[in-house]
Amino acid sequence: MSVAPVDPSLDFESRATPGIRRLRPYDPGHDLVALRQRFGTDLLELGSNENPYGPSPAARDAMLGQLDALHRYPDPLGAGLKRALAATHGVDPAQILLGNGSHELLMQLAQVFAGAGDEVVFSQHGFAVFAIATRATGATARIVDALPRDAAMPLGHDLDAIADAITPATRLVYLANPNNPTGTWFGRVALEAFMTRVPTGVIVVMDEAYAEMADTDADCACALPQLATHPNLLLTRTFSKAYGLAGLRVGYLVGASGLVAVMERIRESFNVNGPALAACEAALGDTAHLQWASERNAEQRTALTDALRARGLAVLPSQTNFVLAEFGPGTAGIETALIERGVVLRPMGGYGLSEWLRITVGSADENRRLLAVLDEVLA
Ligand SMILES: *Cc1c(COP(=O)(O)O)cnc(C)c1O
Repeated sequence: MSVAPVDPSLDFESRATPGIRRLRPYDPGHDLVALRQRFGTDLLELGSNENPYGPSPAARDAMLGQLDALHRYPDPLGAGLKRALAATHGVDPAQILLGNGSHELLMQLAQVFAGAGDEVVFSQHGFAVFAIATRATGATARIVDALPRDAAMPLGHDLDAIADAITPATRLVYLANPNNPTGTWFGRVALEAFMTRVPTGVIVVMDEAYAEMADTDADCACALPQLATHPNLLLTRTFSKAYGLAGLRVGYLVGASGLVAVMERIRESFNVNGPALAACEAALGDTAHLQWASERNAEQRTALTDALRARGLAVLPSQTNFVLAEFGPGTAGIETALIERGVVLRPMGGYGLSEWLRITVGSADENRRLLAVLDEVLA
């Protein structure tokens, strides 16, 4: 498969659009299927920011209730889930767009609003999908340096520099708050000040995949309260992280109803499946489970951060269910040694952070095992 085809009729690479030709697919980290085969239930998966507590039991029940209807197409509009989301966030159902994961929505935003000759602005060390979405459309990515190591929010988004990078060619700005893979965040006042600097013709996407896990006293800005004053601002959320439903692939966007209506034109028909619609609606109703899991996560995040720092590692502040830790020049060897012992973390070379590893905050038991194996490897 690795040999380049000699027959020009098989050269599909050169026939792809210019944006696609420059693209590399999203890198999910390790081959987890192979690792699961090798280690079985001993595999400790801390590489993909999944929720160790799982979804609400109500989500599972609601999903099972759909299994007799698998021969039917789902509700094409996802009206029930949209109504539930609208009630949760205090918006109109017409302001919500459902996606097969929020990854799909991030791609669709660039597809709808940017193209060749346009610019899309986002931060260095920003979520990997921003670059893929931008380049796929043929638009140019303007990547803004992250804040320096010694900043109050090391490697976080530099909102002033991002605003400075906006030009008449800018169509879209992607922000992630909190950001993956850094875990860093910015506050409400900073977002307000940023939005006053953004021309109304530029769409600002707030990827809030981890928003439900931020501490209430952490001042992690959410776009929701500012949607009414800034119709060019929107947010994306997901059921994959705090709700523990990564396997179902459901995300959503909240924004101006006019923006949603334009995006609906290219949404794939029935993009969210029936069992997923039912499960997410039920998960949304179980606020106690969400709160319980998020509190456990916050406790373990603090404990894990402290434990890693006690071992002399630099760990960035985080409001998510992962932490980014600096392992130095020996990172690749440490990572390999961890894999050999059945512990999966996420290497960060693709983000230009090859001396760091991203570690999902597991349950208390999982974190204990991680630290024990890490001590063995670092010794
Ligand atoms: C995990 C993640 C997403 C999305 O995930 P989906 O599973 O596609 O909903 C989006 N943005 C960030 C920053 C993430 O870390």
